[in-house]
Amino acid sequence: MAVHVSQLIQQLEPSATLAMAAKAKELKAAGRTIYDLSVGEPDFATPEHICQAALAAMREGYTHYTEASGIPELKKAVAKQYLTRYGLEYPPDQIVISNGAKHALHNVFTCLLNPGDEMIIPAPYWVSYAELVKLTGAIPVVINAPQSNGFKLTADSLRSAITPKTKGLLLCSPSNPTGTKYSREELQSLADVVLDTDLVVVADEIYDRLVYTSQPFASFPTVRPGLKECTVVVNGVSKTYAMTGWRIGWAIAPNRTFAKAMADLQSQETSNPCSISQYAALAAIEGAQDCVEQMRQEFDRRRRYVASRLQAMPGLSFPEMEGAFYAFVNISQHLGKTYGGVRVDEDPQWCLELLAQKGVASVMGSAFGAPGYVRFSFATSMDNLAAALDALQEFITHAT
Ligand code: PMP
Ligand code: GLU
Repeated sequence: MAVHVSQLIQQLEPSATLAMAAKAKELKAAGRTIYDLSVGEPDFATPEHICQAALAAMREGYTHYTEASGIPELKKAVAKQYLTRYGLEYPPDQIVISNGAKHALHNVFTCLLNPGDEMIIPAPYWVSYAELVKLTGAIPVVINAPQSNGFKLTADSLRSAITPKTKGLLLCSPSNPTGTKYSREELQSLADVVLDTDLVVVADEIYDRLVYTSQPFASFPTVRPGLKECTVVVNGVSKTYAMTGWRIGWAIAPNRTFAKAMADLQSQETSNPCSISQYAALAAIEGAQDCVEQMRQEFDRRRRYVASRLQAMPGLSFPEMEGAFYAFVNISQHLGKTYGGVRVDEDPQWCLELLAQKGVASVMGSAFGAPGYVRFSFATSMDNLAAALDALQEFITHAT
């Protein structure tokens, strides 16, 4: 009997960010010089004290199953962090530790959405949101947030997208892929609609510590009273502590019942997140935070450099990168041209030609629901960035 893939999974798009990164790696392995600005992950080594904590955990025998929803010490540390940083008080049993923030998001959507429910996702959006929503049988409702508004959703466009089937709203700030972030006032205007219409908000705050402008990060549940009860917060250690491979993220639930649902789901799906990684994450959160500031400063240096280089290139436009580590660039003026003899009309092909002809890996805006744009990650060394931007400049100036 032939084995067929289920209809649900047949519709699933693979992650474009990971696909572009894999393509870049493949070309590198084949001997090409590749400047990889595709995947968004810190290029720094995980700080030494965190690695030491993992070694200690292994040696002390913390190498067995843990509670499905994570070790109590880590939940407490996450709760304390949200209290001290943002004044938000959550009992540790409202926190579920997962195998990365992506897994936490999957748990949240699976526990929140019924088939046919609508989840509003502002575009440009990170590649996995819409696909994870679809896996539940719910419908991602994508609303365009224009470049002129820093790719941010307005209260009016949110209100006009709400139907009787709307269950919730996904907010990512600072944003992957746009690099912009919502101000407290902007979040307040969205919060007023949310509170007025009984929506649930999934707030992806994974880039909360990577902010470069003087305006501080605002955690969504803090901007108006009553939001804590209708918001699920997602965060993790991947970006803040350069720990993408350790796979630790979490969801902070609005109540114990919702947390228990996620824990029960996880107990059937994956058991617990890696025990050793959980101890490493604990050391990351509880240990000295200077490593976070050092990495942030280096990202900021790269951000300024990338912005100045891109600004000097004709026909490119992008909003100021205020957080995360991405530049989201409008390349529409460079489409409909010929590059090295190849006519390029759309952003996916533009990215592939940039990679094939110049060895620069990026991610097409279409993957983020924004055709005509390209995402460049600046989570790579200054040397790589300089060489990549030289190559990009050549690519666009020689197009005819
Ligand atoms: N949310 C956003 C906005 C991200 O950029 C990422 C990184 N891929 C994730 C969630 C997932 O993070 P993790 O690697 O912890 O699964
Ligand atoms: N957040 C990263 C990115 O967007 C990691 C890749 C992924 O998980 O999709 O590039």
